[in-house]
Amino acid sequence: MSIEARAARVRLLLFDVDGVFTDGSIVLHGDGSESKVFSVRDGTAIVFARRAGLTTGLVSARTSAATAQRAAQLAIPIVEQSGLDKLTVYERIREQEGLSDAEVAYMGDDLLDLPVLARVGLAACPADAAPEVRDRVHWISRAGGGRGAVREIVELVLRARGQWAAIVNGYLEGPAP
Ligand SMILES: [Mg+2]
Repeated sequence: MSIEARAARVRLLLFDVDGVFTDGSIVLHGDGSESKVFSVRDGTAIVFARRAGLTTGLVSARTSAATAQRAAQLAIPIVEQSGLDKLTVYERIREQEGLSDAEVAYMGDDLLDLPVLARVGLAACPADAAPEVRDRVHWISRAGGGRGAVREIVELVLRARGQWAAIVNGYLEGPAP
């Protein structure tokens, strides 16, 4: 099956956080709090996805206040930060959303993402993902984690669904005179 055909079926976009929405770095402060760096262009892509009627979600194995804050800023409706294995979390989300595996895209960068990547209709990873992940996904972004990988997969899905031109045109047209 072509990557465009896989992308065209997607209705739910799920993302790992560390190494996908970020480059994997964590700035750990002396008080135990932490900072992460997110891409504004990745965030804008999440807004585009919502406008196109797609659902988005974060599935992280680490609990982080920075992740929760970024999800809130972007109004990402599904945020799972639990110690549970990701496949269990994924299956619960998919059932709650009433979707088939084929209708889900997942982007992850490391070994603990492999069980979910083996299930979804569109399995993706950033360019700098672990080699074992790169070897097993349907699609690899040109950008690395935290540097536009999220933007790329959102564009891929919206283009395949015929929704990208409307997003771009919405900005080109501007306000009516
Ligand atoms: Mg990761």
